[in-house]
Amino acid sequence: MRWRLRVDPTACTGHGLCADLFPERVELDEWGFPVIHGDVPAGLTGHARRAVRACPALALRLGDVEQVLFGSLVEQTRKCGKINCRCAGGDGHGPYAYFAPSGVRGMRYVPATLVVPARECLGQGERIEGVLAEISAINLELLARRALP
Ligand code: SF4
Repeated sequence: MRWRLRVDPTACTGHGLCADLFPERVELDEWGFPVIHGDVPAGLTGHARRAVRACPALALRLGDVEQVLFGSLVEQTRKCGKINCRCAGGDGHGPYAYFAPSGVRGMRYVPATLVVPARECLGQGERIEGVLAEISAINLELLARRALP
């Protein structure tokens, strides 16, 4: 799993706070705008998160960690309930996208403009679940060998 800090150049106003709070990976260019160097190692994610929270322009993102959803995306048609509507005797309106969160009852409507980002977050959630399952399997093996750290 890669942890990467990203700057939205259209939002960044060059306050420079990020370089003060996370000098291990952020440097300011000659105009005072941030340049990110490399991925964020697991031991520095706390510093990276602090910089993200402090950015006054909300221009920083810690990718791969924040862009995650666990659940599924489904498409459904809906009947509006009006007696004279065409949907009463045939196909419903839509299809519309709905997000079903893992472990939580109910679904949430997803506007068409957010379907692609939601799918990307779900894909990231699956990757993270896969990584965690691998780590768990390794720890299970270590437990069997009585070598769990
Ligand atoms: S703190 Fe935010 S607005 Fe300021 S330079 Fe960094 S990213 Fe840009």
